[in-house]
Amino acid sequence: MPTYQELARDSGLDRPDIHALFHHLGGYNRAFLITHGDEAADPAFAERFTALAARRRAGEPVAYLLGEKEFYSLTFQVGPGVLIPRPETELLVDLALERLPQGGALVDLGTGSGIIALTIAHERPDATVTALDVSAAALEIARANASRLAPQVRVLQSDWYSALGHEQFAVIVSNPPYIEQDDPHLQQGDLRFEPRSALTDEADGLVHIRSIINGARPRLLAGGWLLFEHGFDQGLAARDLLEAAGFDQVQTWQDIAGMDRVSGGLALA
Ligand code: GLN
Repeated sequence: MPTYQELARDSGLDRPDIHALFHHLGGYNRAFLITHGDEAADPAFAERFTALAARRRAGEPVAYLLGEKEFYSLTFQVGPGVLIPRPETELLVDLALERLPQGGALVDLGTGSGIIALTIAHERPDATVTALDVSAAALEIARANASRLAPQVRVLQSDWYSALGHEQFAVIVSNPPYIEQDDPHLQQGDLRFEPRSALTDEADGLVHIRSIINGARPRLLAGGWLLFEHGFDQGLAARDLLEAAGFDQVQTWQDIAGMDRVSGGLALA
């Protein structure tokens, strides 16, 4: 039986991936390879580690191998049916939290694993939060996350606004599929394994953003905000669309990397 150190070295993985798999499979912390590295590995551990390491070498995202990803200090279940949470999406959560009035209603369009809706509901138990997605696979994961993190959230199947009645919201948020169909990033890294329909509109990247903007006004209360994430080069287009739809205080915010990442506007009465 190889030692833990040999298992790690022979895996060909980089240190962060090795630590993530060691922690996931054995509960071992980062010091384990230093303190126990020269011990013979537990056979069951070795078998499971070797299998996951092979999948990782073939490119599968770590988050899918672990079945979870951290976002806004909460742990979310994830799988191949949903986009992997990205740290830049925390900006959208912060902007929504700042604008959501006490007891206000918020809807998250295309909730995926539920990170936006559930984080906001977790932070703000006073709010009435609705999470929508068209994908049955996503809804299953969003519901599992909701039951653990924010069971008060209503999770519904909906093609953008289609399942909503006449209710109105103080805040509408979305991180829609905004990548252009021929963007080479779709063929790289984790994105190769994520649902294509969560990443791209199979067009110019603005199709879903247009749908969301054009349907927003009647669903917003006076003084309500529409806020959505977009690509680093879509800020100007997003603001133009918001202005054309009659939004006030139209603006774009930058993420931690200094990139245009979220745009939004206020609906006057
Ligand atoms: N709202 C989810 C997230 O931000 C899913 C987004 C998506 O699938 N485009 O991760």
